[in-house]
Parts: sequence; C-alpha cells; structure tokens
Amino acid sequence: MLPDFCHKVLPGYVGGVQEGAVTPAGVVNKYEINGLQAWLITHLLWFANSHLLSWFSPTVIFDNWIPLLWCANILGYAVSTFAMIKGYFFPTDARDCKFTGNFFYNYMMGIEFNPRVGKWFDFKLFFNGRPGIVAWTLINLSFAAKQRELHGHVTNSMVLVNVLQAIYVLDFFWNETWYLKTIDICHDHFGWYLGWGDCVWLPYLYTLQGLYLVYHPVQLSTPYALGVLLLGLAGYYVFRMANHQKDLFRRTDGRCLIWGRKPKVIECAYTSADGQKHHSKLLVSGFWGVARHFNYTGDLMGSLAYCLACGGGHLLPYFYIIYMTILLTHRCLRDEHRCANKYGRDWERYTAAVPYRLLPGIF
Ligand code: NDP
Repeated sequence: MLPDFCHKVLPGYVGGVQEGAVTPAGVVNKYEINGLQAWLITHLLWFANSHLLSWFSPTVIFDNWIPLLWCANILGYAVSTFAMIKGYFFPTDARDCKFTGNFFYNYMMGIEFNPRVGKWFDFKLFFNGRPGIVAWTLINLSFAAKQRELHGHVTNSMVLVNVLQAIYVLDFFWNETWYLKTIDICHDHFGWYLGWGDCVWLPYLYTLQGLYLVYHPVQLSTPYALGVLLLGLAGYYVFRMANHQKDLFRRTDGRCLIWGRKPKVIECAYTSADGQKHHSKLLVSGFWGVARHFNYTGDLMGSLAYCLACGGGHLLPYFYIIYMTILLTHRCLRDEHRCANKYGRDWERYTAAVPYRLLPGIF
C-alpha cells in the first residue's frame, strides 16, 4: 500500500510500478515494487521499539519462538485455503488457472497463477517477498540479542551468519524487479507450497544456524572465520553475477558485453500455448558458459558458508545446505525438463555447448 519512495532517492535501485513477465494467458501484471522500503521501515521500527523506546526486548522473537510458530502456521494454512477457495469460486484471471483433477495436488501446488485482491495486493509477490524474508534478518538479530543475554557476548560465528544472510536478504530486495522474472513468479502457481512455505518453512528453517548458535555459542578461530567469510562472499558474487549476466543479456537482447566480450548466443524458437511462434536467445558466455545453472552453484556456496560458520559440532545447522542442494538440484532438473520441451533441438545445442549443470566435470 505504500508507494515506493526508495527508487526516487537511491541511484541504481529499480522500484516503483514495474511489469512482470507475460503469463501463459498473455497477461502482463503490474507490481508495486516497494520491498526494500518495507524492509527498511520494519527494521527501523524494530530498532526504535527495541533499543530506543524499549517497548519490547530485542529478544522478543526468540522468546516467543513457539507461539509464533503456531501463528505462522495459522497464517500459512489460512492463506493456502483461501487461495484454493478463491481459485475455484472467484479467480483473478480464470484463463491462468490450473485444475489437475486432484484436490490435494491443487491445494498443494495451487490453482491460480497470480491471485490478487484489489489492484495491488498480489499473493505470490507478497508472501514470497514480505513476511518470511523480511523476518529472516529480524529473527537473526533477535537470536544475536539472545546469545548476548545468555552468554554475555555475541560470537564471531553469530556475526558471520547475521552478515552473510543479511547480504542475501538485501540482495533480494535490491533486485526485487529482477525477481519478477524468476521461476517462482513466472512458472509456479500459488498454493500451499508457496503460501505455507513462505510463512513457516522459510522463517523457521532458513534461520536454524542462528538458533543453534544461541544454545551453542561457537567462537571460530580468525583464519577459519575468514575462510567462511570468503566462501560466503565468493558464493554471493557468483550468484549475483550469474543472475545479472542473464538479466542483462535478455534485457538488451544480446547487445551487451559479458566478461568484456560480445556474448556467444544460441538462437532458439518455440511455440506458445496459443500456437504463436516466438524467438529467444540462450547465453553461452560468462557463467552461463561454465555450467547451465552456475547461479545455483553460487547460491549453494553461500549456503554452505552459513552452515560452516556454526563449526562441526552438530548436523542440525547443516540442514540448510542439505535442503538447498535438494531444492536447487530438483529445480535445475525441473527447469531443464521445461526448457527441453520448450526449445527442443535448440536446447540440445545448448546442452552440447555447455555439458554440465552445476559443477563442470562433475554434474
Ligand atoms: P534461473 O534464473 O536460472 O532461470 C531459469 C530460466 O532462465 C530458464 O527457465 C530459461 O527461461 C532461462 N535460461 C536458462 N538458461 C539460459 C541461458 N543460457 N541464457 C538465457 N536464459 C536462460 O532460475 P530461478 O528463477 O530458479 O533462480 C533465480 C535465482 O534465485 C537463482 O540464483 C537461485 O539460486 C535463487 N533461488 C533461491 C531460492 C532460495 O530459497 N534461497 C529458491 C529458488 C531460487 P526462458 O524460458 O525464459 O528461456
């Protein structure tokens, strides 16, 4: 509801009203991109209330971790159920609905593509990009405050987890317009998978490292901590640059420089559901020439760094890298299956030119 102000004052930041991708029914939705502003306001309010006015303790999230889990579940199930009912009885755009005939599949994976209430409240962007991901950094701050309360100091491992994950969260908000073109928004329907996942799974499982460190304060040696920091930053660099290269390549229709050179391109054609023929291009230079999903590899390097920051005392903080490896490998296979169907022979030419998916020489 808050029109974006950040793009007027922050050079290079793209916010305000932006267009999403074309849906299968040919609709182009408009979005109010104000996530960075929402994140800033939330964190300023948090800081003012917990530190300046002392209206609540900065440990408030940790102190109410289980009651909040109930609330998050109620919200997650309520929104998924509402989305299901809305899909059947009053969809935003009936042409973009998907009914499989299986009630449970419909509930889990969603019926509507872009459910909306009113002009701007978009369920998919809101739930993917507000409650859970804004909370992620607040939860970590609350864990750091609790560690200090319990043990008298904040360990370097807790600082590392807070900093590396904050970079990832801020990157998401800084690039929210780019996010409109990712698989989550462009291909997934809105159901329990996204609704419950965003409200419960993300805030509760992506933050396990910080929670672990509250109970097990790990002080890392300086060389080890530096190694983890470097891995986290390197992973972030690969993740961001790979995503940026594809975005730049697609926005300029290949008229750009990748690693200082004109990019190598595979021209491809595909036919959309309405029978129309279209042309597209696949990038074979930069990180997209190293492996077909090197952006996922960067993401996994960063994820591993968060876990390594917790030392080797327990498997629990390693849940994140195990989960992300499964999620991104599955996503990679799912995406490649879709691309193979979409581009046919042209996709085969791409896989011949770039034979590996995530790790050159291995997978
Ligand atoms: P991608 O950004 O990799 O997009 C895949 C699409 O890009 C394909 O469907 C195809 O679409 C196009 N494409 C594929 N190869 C090429 C190429 N060589 N040149 C040009 N276009 C190509 O996937 P995601 O949307 O899944 O990921 C975006 C980022 O989000 C990733 O970095 C990922 O790590 C991150 N992510 C993080 C998650 C988390 O929970 N932390 C969850 C999911 C993603 P087209 O049909 O247009 O050709």
